[in-house]
Amino acid sequence: MHELSIAASIVEAVTETAAAYAGARVIAVRLRVGALAAVVEDSLQFCWSVTTEGTPLAGAALAVRKMPVVIHCAACGVDAEVGGVQSFRCPLCGQPAADLRQGRELEIESIEIEEPEGEALVASGEKDRR
Ligand SMILES: [Zn+2]
Repeated sequence: MHELSIAASIVEAVTETAAAYAGARVIAVRLRVGALAAVVEDSLQFCWSVTTEGTPLAGAALAVRKMPVVIHCAACGVDAEVGGVQSFRCPLCGQPAADLRQGRELEIESIEIEEPEGEALVASGEKDRR
């Protein structure tokens, strides 16, 4: 199963990153997944829970952000989002476009961890100062 190997590689990467924060617990992992990455989210979520079970990542949420397909049209000189994954035509002029700019992503966007004292850390760096 495709999603199982994806889940396994995410677990590996996140475990490696989290190792830098001793005692920290991973709360959530955010993924960027392109429309062409051929990932079935339900299946990935299932594989994620199975793969993380019994590991320090158990219970961590997996948040999937879907990225639409973006092509570059040479005729119009613009990057444009295409509606479906079947059509690679420029929405402006209708020309077939082979220059794919976005849509194949399958990467970790951020990892949310919690330090032992309970202070939440978000990879984006936003901090609550109350
Ligand atoms: Zn065009």
